[in-house]
Amino acid sequence: MKSTWTWLGDHLALDFVNTVVCSDGTTRQELWDGPEAMEEWLEAEPESLPAPAAVSADDVGGLRRLRDHALELLDAAVREQELPGDSVEAINAAVVAAGTARVLTHRARSSTVVTTSTDPLRELRGHLAAAVVDLLGREDLANLARCGAPGCGQYYHRSRPNQRWCSPGCGNRARVDRHRHRRLNGEQ
Ligand SMILES: [Zn+2]
Repeated sequence: MKSTWTWLGDHLALDFVNTVVCSDGTTRQELWDGPEAMEEWLEAEPESLPAPAAVSADDVGGLRRLRDHALELLDAAVREQELPGDSVEAINAAVVAAGTARVLTHRARSSTVVTTSTDPLRELRGHLAAAVVDLLGREDLANLARCGAPGCGQYYHRSRPNQRWCSPGCGNRARVDRHRHRRLNGEQ
């Protein structure tokens, strides 16, 4: 397995949107660059997800479009703007098409998502879209943030209110970068 997926294991919606790396706010690096990458992601993702036996290029295209809608929504949420209507509709449509429902498990304070669809791709889209609904509809939005460290740009949840970077590694890189800029500007 490629080292690309070592960061997986966050909220499913974050593992979903962070498959595009937009480290400087403009250039996008696509991690789902084909069926093989998609299959690897599905295998590496700790949350158990329905997966088609084989993923086609069309499937990847459709999942990327759904992911881009999720990205638009998280971006608007982080900026505290109204959520874009077409993205809200796309996510809701995927939830509804799969017959997605959140149900109890036998453990208290725990629930899981089930679908009535028997089409694995539709089920997968339903699970991913439902995770976006959970993230944006049920959790404290103030905790959602985008990491501004050089070369990162990942969405993450703040575990404390003043957290600025998604990981200690990013914090270190950001400090080194700031220091270098200061030196370049002749300050010390
Ligand atoms: Zn980061």
